[in-house]
Amino acid sequence: MALQRLLLKKAFGEAKPKSLCCFFSTAPPSLPAFDYEPKPYNGPRADEVFQKRKQFLGPSLFHFYQKPLNIVEGKMQYLYDENGRRYLDAFAGIVTVSAGHCHPDVLNAIFEQSKLLQHATTIYLHHAIADFAEALASKFPGNLKVVYFVNSGSEANELAMLMARLYTGNLEMISLRNGYHGGSSNTMSLTALNTWKYPIPQGEIHHAVNPDPYRGVFGSDAKSYAKDVQDHIDFGTAGKVAGFISETIQGVGGAVELAPGYLKLVYDIVRKAGGVCIADEVQTGFGRTGTHYWGFETQGVIPDIVTMAKGIGNGLPLGAVVTTPEIASVLAQKTQFNTYGGNPVCSAGGLAVLRVIDKEKRQVHSADVGSHLLARLRDLQQRYEIIGDVRGRGLMVGVELVTDRNEKTPAKAETAMLFEKLRELGVLVGKGGLHGNVFRIKPPLCFTKDDADFLVDALDYSMSKL
Ligand code: PMP
Repeated sequence: MALQRLLLKKAFGEAKPKSLCCFFSTAPPSLPAFDYEPKPYNGPRADEVFQKRKQFLGPSLFHFYQKPLNIVEGKMQYLYDENGRRYLDAFAGIVTVSAGHCHPDVLNAIFEQSKLLQHATTIYLHHAIADFAEALASKFPGNLKVVYFVNSGSEANELAMLMARLYTGNLEMISLRNGYHGGSSNTMSLTALNTWKYPIPQGEIHHAVNPDPYRGVFGSDAKSYAKDVQDHIDFGTAGKVAGFISETIQGVGGAVELAPGYLKLVYDIVRKAGGVCIADEVQTGFGRTGTHYWGFETQGVIPDIVTMAKGIGNGLPLGAVVTTPEIASVLAQKTQFNTYGGNPVCSAGGLAVLRVIDKEKRQVHSADVGSHLLARLRDLQQRYEIIGDVRGRGLMVGVELVTDRNEKTPAKAETAMLFEKLRELGVLVGKGGLHGNVFRIKPPLCFTKDDADFLVDALDYSMSKL
């Protein structure tokens, strides 16, 4: 080890020996220290849980890893399995945990509210929903001031679509290829990832060419991609568009940032045609991108409707739609009611999440740790041909693996192997993209630079053994 350090020092001067610890890929890296002892676990083991799941739950459920993990406890950016083994959670339960697993402030808010009153619908008054709506609305620019609470991202997008259609009087929607917007019938039709949808009739939905700077047919040329949206409006919808919806960085599709300037051009086109613009912030919101609180701000636009879920509740089943008073007024023509949306427990928890993100300055932290992580991944890309693309912002990062950089041939088998290897080393990342060859790195926002170093060292070590 001393010799290794000496060689490193000779080769690189004093340049961060830690970040180069796996340059020679000798010993596997170890998790950063963390002062927490998980509770003893005496519950059912992985095999038993898996058996029961197969017997009693729908066969469409999928799981990660050849030997599925039985996760029994979580603390901030770490998860513990049935044996008390700690893992770095670089996927945050699919980008759902923002503040950190079991963050004490969020837990406390949930407990205190649960002890008083767990459920009262909006037919009665309760301060929690009003306080939360006020705090959430204050996070938005422009006239985005009216909040609706729902229970999931799919439900938020359903409501957004309903608003767009009622407001414009049109039915046709435009979404992006490679996007994901939910698992309900309508949102599934917006989704343009084949593995996630059924071939059932899905009229009135048009999928525009994805403005993907890495794989897209027009590279980073936002104008050409935007022209495709214009074509859909002119020829597909016969000029009658209700709305355009897109994620501001595609999540399930593999952390794909939209070509710079794309949303500005498209929002203009859609609005000129009488449609409204919806930003799906289910994965990108709440400071994750680092530079901005909302993903749409990275493209310099203000949507007409914003949908959110996941990170808003740090694990609580909670979603929201925020829009303008003008659009909201259309929905007031009939009764709009949601039994659990904005219940006191979720509202108290959601408000606590907003406060934690502010108090702990998580947006700045995401920018700081995210740029460290991206820089280290880009260093790794110099050394491993298999890394075709490193992209993202803040703590919303994608690493795309290819067997040929020119052809961009998806390295599917290698991704699967590395994915298992990372887990063996104690790192849990997500896997996605159209070809299943993208590592999705979207940890809880309390993820540190040491965690980032460990993750990259583990990737380095695993790649050196490929
Ligand atoms: N939109 C996006 C961008 C998502 O990633 C998801 C979930 N992966 C959804 C909507 C649907 O959210 P939910 O699973 O809470 O219905």
